[in-house]
Amino acid sequence: MNEFELIADLFAPLATTPGAFGLKDDAAVFRAPEGFETVITKDVMIEGVHYLSGTNPARVAQKLLRVNLSDLAAMGAEPQSYLLGCQFREDVSQNWLHEFAQGLTEDQTTFGISLLGGDTTKTPGPNAFSLTAIGALPQGTAIRRSGVQPGDEIWVSGTIGDGAMGLMMAKGEYTPKDASDAPFLKDCLELPTPRIGLGQRLRGIASAAIDVSDGLIADLGHLARASGVGLTLAADAVPLSDPCRRALAEGASDLATLLTGGDDYELAFSAPAGSRDGLLSAADDAHVAITLVGLASDGEGTVRVLNEGQPMAVSQSGYRHF
Ligand SMILES: [Mg+2]
Repeated sequence: MNEFELIADLFAPLATTPGAFGLKDDAAVFRAPEGFETVITKDVMIEGVHYLSGTNPARVAQKLLRVNLSDLAAMGAEPQSYLLGCQFREDVSQNWLHEFAQGLTEDQTTFGISLLGGDTTKTPGPNAFSLTAIGALPQGTAIRRSGVQPGDEIWVSGTIGDGAMGLMMAKGEYTPKDASDAPFLKDCLELPTPRIGLGQRLRGIASAAIDVSDGLIADLGHLARASGVGLTLAADAVPLSDPCRRALAEGASDLATLLTGGDDYELAFSAPAGSRDGLLSAADDAHVAITLVGLASDGEGTVRVLNEGQPMAVSQSGYRHF
């Protein structure tokens, strides 16, 4: 299959938006709905860096898409479409390519989006992908990182640490004793759930938000610095899944690892203390649990971590790309 056959066979069926012109033009034409702003984000995923070689190709594609949708969710945006850049290994098989495209097909249905355009090449290096996700929100309503005020409460959605335990498991560094924990942790690592519904419902309620990709403590640090406040995280209040609790009980991991591991794709956000009812009903509507985990105060962009009231030592706050 040459580049043009590949595009026609695999990717053109994904380009269902009229402005994508079936991927037959030089570029796509795109317009945000009246009264809305366009929100754009890009993430890169490289084999051996962001995912392990041998990962199911459909899931590689789905994670690539979902980590970008998680960034849209953090801003409060509704996903609309995406651009895809693929550099496939020279030895990539037809089967791998078809499964990759199938993963996108499934997620386009799940998230109600379609492919707008992109580029595809072969590379002498490992597989490398880049995806640009495009979303929309009513003008002026984007949730920024910089809005945390002293006195605001800090919340997180879902549970934290599952991606980190999933990665330990995938690397052969952890084997759950409870057999049902393995597929759960594998799914958390490979197929995160972007909190799109929650993000949109937080518009006008949350004062700031971020998605947890680098590690909860590191990402709270990003919020604290952008907002010029100090944050205190109650480590013992952070919601953990049963599989993570069992890993802790078995001594296979520790709390610091779960709070710094990253790959959670939950939302961490702030809101004034009087907003609890609104937040809880937004979370209820979005069918996701949220948990109060901290407090903002005057400060200079620092995060203090307490565990049962005592300062907790954390050697590294999260994943660093460089
Ligand atoms: Mg992000």
